[in-house]
Amino acid sequence: MRMDDAGAAEDAATTDVKARCLSWIDRNRDEAARLNDALFYFGEPSLEEYETAKLLCRVLSEAGFSVETGISGFPTAFLATIGEGAPVIALHAEYDGNPDNSQESGVTEPRPIVEGAPGHAEGHQANATVMVTAALAVAEAIKRGEVRGTLKVFGAPGEEIAASRPYFVRDGYFDDVDLALHNHIRGSFYTEVGQTQISAISAEFTFSGESAHAGLNPWDGRDALDAVVLMDMGLAQHREHMKPDMRAHRVITDGGQQPNVIPARAAVWWYFRGFSAADARALFEQACRIADGAALMTRTSVSVEIKSAVWPTRCNTVLADVLQANILSVGMPDWTEEEQAFARRLQEAAGVPAPGLDTAPKPMLGPDMPEPSSNDCGDISWVVPMGRFWFPGGVPHVRFHHWSGGAMLATSITHKGIVAGAKVLAGAICDCLADPALLNRVRTTFRAEIAGVEYAPLIPLQGTPRLGVHARLMERFRPEMAKHYRTELPRFR
Ligand SMILES: [Zn+2]
Repeated sequence: MRMDDAGAAEDAATTDVKARCLSWIDRNRDEAARLNDALFYFGEPSLEEYETAKLLCRVLSEAGFSVETGISGFPTAFLATIGEGAPVIALHAEYDGNPDNSQESGVTEPRPIVEGAPGHAEGHQANATVMVTAALAVAEAIKRGEVRGTLKVFGAPGEEIAASRPYFVRDGYFDDVDLALHNHIRGSFYTEVGQTQISAISAEFTFSGESAHAGLNPWDGRDALDAVVLMDMGLAQHREHMKPDMRAHRVITDGGQQPNVIPARAAVWWYFRGFSAADARALFEQACRIADGAALMTRTSVSVEIKSAVWPTRCNTVLADVLQANILSVGMPDWTEEEQAFARRLQEAAGVPAPGLDTAPKPMLGPDMPEPSSNDCGDISWVVPMGRFWFPGGVPHVRFHHWSGGAMLATSITHKGIVAGAKVLAGAICDCLADPALLNRVRTTFRAEIAGVEYAPLIPLQGTPRLGVHARLMERFRPEMAKHYRTELPRFR
């Protein structure tokens, strides 16, 4: 056999493996839809994804993955592994919803499933469904011995509060990983290259003073809520001096209990964002000075807890090419006229442009066109080459974290987007497992891309993050939410 014949035979074998993976996904499209819908109706917010993680782990272990739960101290995190040896490919995706985002699917008006409850209005449940469906498809090829290597599937809880993945990196879970792939729902189908999101630090400032009767002797009180307000004013003044892509936003997590008791304790939870990790850190450090000033003015003391912190997200150029090629070969789902009409009605109801659903993939985005948002996968992208793509399970222009962002998430639009996304992810994994030269190009380009940047985690080097941010919320709402859980669960085969 001549060299080029050998190469052609290898290409044909890869094509066969990939074709079998994609047809496995087609055969299991109803199961993928069931998995998505089950996760959608769990509707669990950050770090409360107990039912979600349990179902994902069940599906993966039934397919022969060895599953480790609770990694890095997060009860709702997991690592599922199959195969052995090099290369080691990591998949990672989130599955959390948000507070006050409960929204029924298949309607074009605000209609909570449970009034006031958390829910999915962005589609992270579809992100996890794509990841797991693709992993199951490739696992079949690994089990048949058609491809060699290790697949590591990371369940990453709490993305909305940037919680888990920097801790996975810090704790060494990516030390032996050759490359990582991430997928996210959107109204469009595309990949991206270079820096695509910015850095963020999430920190809570707790002020402590002394209580007093607010009518009889307020002069004896040292008001912790005053300090929270003064910190807010300090940051408002500082905004003029922030770089245009910096962001600072907050919620008051403790503002006292009753007006006639001077609050001895008050707390405010801030996110600080900047283009680079250094920018986010500089803004955070300025906020700490402002907090110290607020404490000084109010004779209170302040303690600061970094809840989480993430590096910007960046995407490797070779992996972007691999993903884009797979996107073009899979193509957009065929939308029916009913799906197009539903999308237009939803867009009109949400007050956004109403062209309906995209009918073709978009060009690759970049290089270096970051959005002022963050994802806790950022840290991964500085320690291993990472590729990320967006799959068309949503409706274009409809906004995340708004009722309309949830209104399609258990319809055929999301179901078809999941199939397309899982095919791209499985196809890209097949390409990477089959081609050592491609892996070499991934490695060498990655080294050049991060040259001159020294990665150091923004999170604390010790300890685990505080859990239970939304525990009370779920204590209150879970019994009502549980009445809507799906009874028909997926059985992939
Ligand atoms: Zn997201």
